Amino acid sequence: MRSAAGKMSTELTKGNSEGWTVKFVPFVTAIESPFWVRYCHEKLERIQLNEDAISLQASYGVDGPPRLLCQENAFHHSSSSSSSSSSSSNAAKIIMTANERVAVELSLQGFNTLDSFQKCDKNQLLIDFFTPAFLRGGNEALAALTKCFLCVYPELKSHKVLYWMGIPALLTKPGKSIRAFHQVSLAEAWTIDEQKMLVNNLAVLRRNIMLSGDTSTATANRGLPPFFLCTKQTCHRLSPESYRCLLVEEQSTEEVYFGFFDPSGPSPIQPQQPMGWPLRNFVAYLCYHLNLGGKKVIILSYRSKHLRRLDMDTNIVAMNSEPEIEGESIILEVLVPLKEDYEWESSVEDGKKVNKVVGWELNARNKPGPRWVNLRPLLDSNHLAIQAADLNLKLMKWRMIPDLKVDQLQQTKVLLIGAGTLGCSVARTLIGWGVRKMKIVDNGRVSYSNPVRQSLFTLEDCHYDNGSGRPKAQAAADALKTIAADMECEGITLSIPMPGHPESREAIETSVAELEELISECDVVYLLTDTRESRWLPTVMVAAHNKIMINAALGLDSWLVMRHGAGIVQDNDGNIVTSEGRLGCYFCNDIVAPENSTKNRTLDQQCTVTRPGLSPIASSMAVEMMVSLLHHPQQQAAPAPKRGPIGAFAPTASYDDPSSSGPLGIIPHQVRGSLVSYTMMTPTVPAFRHCTACAASVVEAYQKDKIDLVFNTCQARDSVYLENISGLTGFRAEAAEKMAEMEEWDDDDDADT
Ligand SMILES: [Zn+2]
Repeated sequence: MRSAAGKMSTELTKGNSEGWTVKFVPFVTAIESPFWVRYCHEKLERIQLNEDAISLQASYGVDGPPRLLCQENAFHHSSSSSSSSSSSSNAAKIIMTANERVAVELSLQGFNTLDSFQKCDKNQLLIDFFTPAFLRGGNEALAALTKCFLCVYPELKSHKVLYWMGIPALLTKPGKSIRAFHQVSLAEAWTIDEQKMLVNNLAVLRRNIMLSGDTSTATANRGLPPFFLCTKQTCHRLSPESYRCLLVEEQSTEEVYFGFFDPSGPSPIQPQQPMGWPLRNFVAYLCYHLNLGGKKVIILSYRSKHLRRLDMDTNIVAMNSEPEIEGESIILEVLVPLKEDYEWESSVEDGKKVNKVVGWELNARNKPGPRWVNLRPLLDSNHLAIQAADLNLKLMKWRMIPDLKVDQLQQTKVLLIGAGTLGCSVARTLIGWGVRKMKIVDNGRVSYSNPVRQSLFTLEDCHYDNGSGRPKAQAAADALKTIAADMECEGITLSIPMPGHPESREAIETSVAELEELISECDVVYLLTDTRESRWLPTVMVAAHNKIMINAALGLDSWLVMRHGAGIVQDNDGNIVTSEGRLGCYFCNDIVAPENSTKNRTLDQQCTVTRPGLSPIASSMAVEMMVSLLHHPQQQAAPAPKRGPIGAFAPTASYDDPSSSGPLGIIPHQVRGSLVSYTMMTPTVPAFRHCTACAASVVEAYQKDKIDLVFNTCQARDSVYLENISGLTGFRAEAAEKMAEMEEWDDDDDADT
């Protein structure tokens, strides 16, 4: 080494043709699987269609082999920003890279399509990413020396990721290279004491960086500084300033060593030892920012198995009183190329673009190219199923319906009353919307006529118990669990007390208590039974608990889907308040039900004979209506669309009223459809104040004495009992009186003519 003579560097003696071209050991990218799993999660949930580069961290160590490590914790404080402005965003990050490793800036560029991944000009990408920052100087140039760039195309549906890592390095012009002239191991060149001093000085430098709070990109997260300047006495961080200081302070009496932590790691030293990848840019930096082009410099390639992690309590003096002597480090005399030996920008030569930045990694076939990684084997199959099930909903959020509340739908607790054709179809469609918490009530068993139309049942359910069939609620719940992996579903066999169907008081007490509990703990109740009278008690209860209720009923070839209006609420003094413009329930229709024309046949609610296509249509409408309603801030109290130009039956498309619509469109009160005419209508019917199910007087009677009301209603041979409570009897009498008066007037009129 002494032969290199001089202090800092030596003018190149012209004609000196000795030496050799320095070879470099490329990095091998090591991306841990959790990194990819996390990235895919971020892509789906947060990044979505955004193609801005994300600024992350990777790291390498000096204990070999030269692995560039990407770990899942890189995402903990990631920020989405363009690569050029990423340096400032690092300031707020916490320590992530341990200080026996070098932290490097990783810019992750995601692509939304395979095509755009493949078509983008990779070399230009690397040049744009590296060159401007390098030329700017300062901390940015220092950070650029070890920056790396990751192109990614995630194929979320198949859990695969296509990626390509680029670790840019400046190339010299053809015929030019970085030449070395002398190589010696540190152990040979330095005395034991000098080596001990170096180990101590490096430890102090690291400690100072740790304590300084300096989070400039060059040493972001206070990892090991990739480069340093040292003499046998001192050790400094790399910068033009510290280099100048060193020249002045040391009075040019000491040799300056340009040190770097060499990722190629300790290995038996061979002649013309290949050097770690960062040296390439380091030499370019010496040329460009320290003006050492054309001069010989002494490089210290620091390789160590013994580099220890420092913490705040580490006593450096104690730690290094007997420092491990590094036998593996190398001192190398290198000739720094001239500035004109480098070409900073891409240029066009003979019509062909020539790029001087290289660094794209080789693939498995040892050719430059991207690699696929398959995450499927890493993921638990249940987890895969759950993720895949949500995929379509999450994709809907990306562009089509950004306001879609996927999480809310998943958390919504739905009670289905009835597990027949409607119940099965509604449950099936709810799953599609991501609803996972369901309870199903039914009192029947699966019979042989069921499976063909009731999509959750199979013949096996019918054969159960010598052909008596499995309880429907249970069978439906079990079937749902085989469809969605994260289904939380329960089937409850329960018979609902019905008006005109007498039962013992005890039986009523039990079923009322059970049904009441089910309704009070859910968010949405679906009324999907096949008789009119079985809908009465749930309607009363939902009005009393003010829940969302969606009701679906089938005729032979027509169907009705409606949402019940908001329930009865009490003010602070316990008085029942009914809101202005409250929408009606299923039973409110009985008196004022809109009956338009022959196109709208009256529903025969008793009838279970329907055209097979009807139930899926009505069920889908019922689910879509619920999803729309859950997106409205007022939920069950959401107003119905205002009347269109042709009254309450106006076609849906004519509405454009923001108060009654949400991100999914308008929310009608009722949808009535017919398969005879293939038409739909969306009438609105206000609550009827003498309704036998949702009138304030009925709800009040229910709240006063539940069992009494239900028992008497079931016991009653006719509807008078209920009509008296609701005030319907009085209303009818009043109406009859008015009618009579009108008839009298008619008579008078007749007399006049
Ligand atoms: Zn009503």
